Amino acid sequence: MNGGTPVLAPYAQHDAASRGRRFPEPPPRHRTEYQRDRDRIVHSTAFRRLVYKTQVFVNHEGDLYRTRLTHSLEVAQIARSVARALALNEPLAEAICLAHDLGHTPFGHAGQDALHECMREFGGFEHNLQSLRVVDELEERYAEFPGLNLTFETREGILKHCSAANARRLGDLGERFLQRRQPGLEAQLANLADEIAYNNHDVDDGIRAGLISIEELRGVAIFRRQYDLVTERYPGLSARRLVHEVVRRMIDYLVNDLIDASSTSIAAASPADAEAVRARSEPLLTFGPEVSAEHLELKRYLRQHLYRHYKVLRMTNKARRVVRELFEAMLEDVDLMPTEHQEAARRMEAEGGRSGRARAVADYIAGMTDRFAILEYQRLFDPSERT
Ligand code: MG
Repeated sequence: MNGGTPVLAPYAQHDAASRGRRFPEPPPRHRTEYQRDRDRIVHSTAFRRLVYKTQVFVNHEGDLYRTRLTHSLEVAQIARSVARALALNEPLAEAICLAHDLGHTPFGHAGQDALHECMREFGGFEHNLQSLRVVDELEERYAEFPGLNLTFETREGILKHCSAANARRLGDLGERFLQRRQPGLEAQLANLADEIAYNNHDVDDGIRAGLISIEELRGVAIFRRQYDLVTERYPGLSARRLVHEVVRRMIDYLVNDLIDASSTSIAAASPADAEAVRARSEPLLTFGPEVSAEHLELKRYLRQHLYRHYKVLRMTNKARRVVRELFEAMLEDVDLMPTEHQEAARRMEAEGGRSGRARAVADYIAGMTDRFAILEYQRLFDPSERT
């Protein structure tokens, strides 16, 4: 420890090696550059909206389920623990995690798929790219620049995936997708922390919703191992405490394996610095082979039994319809959108034709929370509803 600031490993992202911000700014007085990024994300409008956006369960289905806000906090918490253990840049990892879902549409994956379908002939819709659009352009909070003007490294971490066509348009940020290079370790970490968080909280939420059962989950190795340990040690535990104890142990198991396996792979590669990490063709942060396979088994189980459960499919079917019909009506007549979005649509149409106009409609819809999208749908299509 050095004056309370943790010593970073050579392969961590060091503040002094940052590629900087799109619009140069004087350095913060009492924070690091990545702490400033994190704080700007927390103060953004898009971050607050995450409280009413969901991943699997539509927001109004119940108050007990994770929202994208609590999900983002859980991801950040997991990433911070791992960052500390591996001597990575903790504020950078935290900033990436808190921003990683900012571009998500209402209604989780169903909303995203529907919007992508609507935007097919206009360049498509990718939520990672939309998260970047939010922090680069759509947030309006600062006098001197559009967006949040975050550092290159935070933006690099937000852009987890990207098509080759979009990568070409993005310049320096898109380069790695074309050259098949990796992002820094903090970005690799955010990606894995995201997986650990959602697989485990979907188990918890799925059981609570009655869509999957403990009995069935005992067929999944990673669940069974912790379940057997807990039931042997604490026989007669109530169902709720049992589930929470098993889930907390699964998270712990995955996090420890991630730290151990990554320490080994980092030691073997011994990258001199963060640029050496980026130059590699494969990520260095990883689970061990056994846990990778078990984690995959859990993901497959959830896909089959939770995400494709008929009750979830009914919700996602409704969600797709809401997004599709809002998009079609607003693309046809942009004056159905509130004034500032009409203006954006006219400006973007003047610059980019019909694709620009469609992008403005997609921006408006992507920014909606679940309940706002449902309200807009009622206001537009339900004759008995006031506008
Ligand atoms: Mg996520």
